[in-house]
Amino acid sequence: MSQHKISEVLEDVKKEFELANKQDSEVDARWLLAELLGCSMTELTLIQEKILSDEIYLSFMNSIQRRLAGEPLQHILGYQNFYGYDFKVNGHVLIPRCETEELVEKAISIIKEKRMKDVIDMCCGSGCIGITLLKECADIKAYGVDVSFEAISITHENGLNLNVSDRLTLYESDLFQELPKISVDMIISNPPYIPTDTIHSLSTEVKDREPSLALDGGMDGLDFYRRIVLEGKPYLKEGGYLLFEIGYDQMEAVCRLMEENDYQHVKGYKDLSGNDRMVIGHK
Ligand code: GLN
Repeated sequence: MSQHKISEVLEDVKKEFELANKQDSEVDARWLLAELLGCSMTELTLIQEKILSDEIYLSFMNSIQRRLAGEPLQHILGYQNFYGYDFKVNGHVLIPRCETEELVEKAISIIKEKRMKDVIDMCCGSGCIGITLLKECADIKAYGVDVSFEAISITHENGLNLNVSDRLTLYESDLFQELPKISVDMIISNPPYIPTDTIHSLSTEVKDREPSLALDGGMDGLDFYRRIVLEGKPYLKEGGYLLFEIGYDQMEAVCRLMEENDYQHVKGYKDLSGNDRMVIGHK
């Protein structure tokens, strides 16, 4: 096999991405190679003249083929960083998004201010919300709930990897159905919220590679908010908080749902990109 100098390999791969009209993903190539070499992206630029071993070269080219075929970078790497913690991900869970970090940040400040003790992460997926709360708030316990057994298995693994499994209890359940009668200080949820008939308009990488179970919010996208607002109330202590991530056009509807169900001080918040993104209220 011929020698594979890093700079030349990256140049070839760049051309492949250009040919496939995927220039935007070219930076992913550097990321994948840095990961395989166990170095940072900056370090990678300093070793451009080095020769790759055949083994690394072959697995790099394999990753590149997967990426060119439309597999998300995070599925190839096997993880996504969220709030400074690496979460294992695969096709059974939603890839954690940075908008959700903003919801988690709000939750952390409420938990600390009100000295809360326990939270339910409803529709936990990878577990990024509940597990991050456990990492950041050392005194709390969390209950993670997801309807998908595969998702719950990933949450479990992430809890173990991040050393919080002693404070994390998981339920495979359609929302509150299988939950015992507990009452908590906070319910937090990023439920599926895309209206069924707009799923086709999402990018192919999302609609073909991420689980539709985690995206599909029913005809108007609000099915899960309706149910969580109603079914969650008995699980909240008096004064307990309900925090939602929402779609950019759902603030009014979700605020109204909460107000109609007598939640107090219901308020919507924008994310850093200026889109409506969160609704928070308390019992
Ligand atoms: N709670 C997970 C997340 O925020 C999963 C959300 C979902 O499945 N809709 O990424």
